[in-house]
Amino acid sequence: MTEGRWVEVGDGVLARRYAELDLTVGLVLGAERALVVDTRGDERQGAELAAAVRAVTPLPPAVAITHAHFDHCFGTSAFPGAPVHALPRCREVLAATAAAQRAEWTRHYRDRGDATTAAALAATDPPLPDAAAPVALDLGGRTAHLLHLGRGHTDHDLVVHVPDQQVVFAGDLVEEGAPPDLGDAVLAEWPATLDALLALAPRVVVPGHGDPVDPAFVAEQRAYLASLALRSTR
Ligand SMILES: [Zn+2]
Repeated sequence: MTEGRWVEVGDGVLARRYAELDLTVGLVLGAERALVVDTRGDERQGAELAAAVRAVTPLPPAVAITHAHFDHCFGTSAFPGAPVHALPRCREVLAATAAAQRAEWTRHYRDRGDATTAAALAATDPPLPDAAAPVALDLGGRTAHLLHLGRGHTDHDLVVHVPDQQVVFAGDLVEEGAPPDLGDAVLAEWPATLDALLALAPRVVVPGHGDPVDPAFVAEQRAYLASLALRSTR
């Protein structure tokens, strides 16, 4: 049984979809390097992703982490030697919260009867990001822009823009198939961050969970978040 499924969202730009948490990660292929966007939720899941990436390309990978939530970055050790790009604040938050996230979600998987995932997560000590962001990454014949457009889902959301294919990997700033997660959100600033994302004029936006969407979907989610923000200030 294959765990994930690649979806082509542009020429040499792929999203990988998973049933687990409806997670979506990304892969951007240059002529000299590949960029992996997010690494899944534990070492075992990261190893699956790394093998899937190797099946697509022999190019050396770099990694971009959209934010410090475990399901996006606990699989990073499966990419040894790869530079791991994230905002400095992402590194800080991951250092401060990794143990608590691991405990909370190990309990979640155990309670759900998923002992395999619980054990894999309990055994995972995620490495901290070690490379700069924001940055323009030259992948060889193509540049991926790692941008901080503002706060929203967290206080350290990173997006990956591939301008030649008009694709944006949004992390959990955008969610398809479930409402946006407000747990660590900066709700008042989230709509403006999505305005900045839409100003990049994307053709396809890849959310952190769910299927790739178009700008109209993002505009709708922006309006929903703006209405929530308005209500919360009353
Ligand atoms: Zn998240």
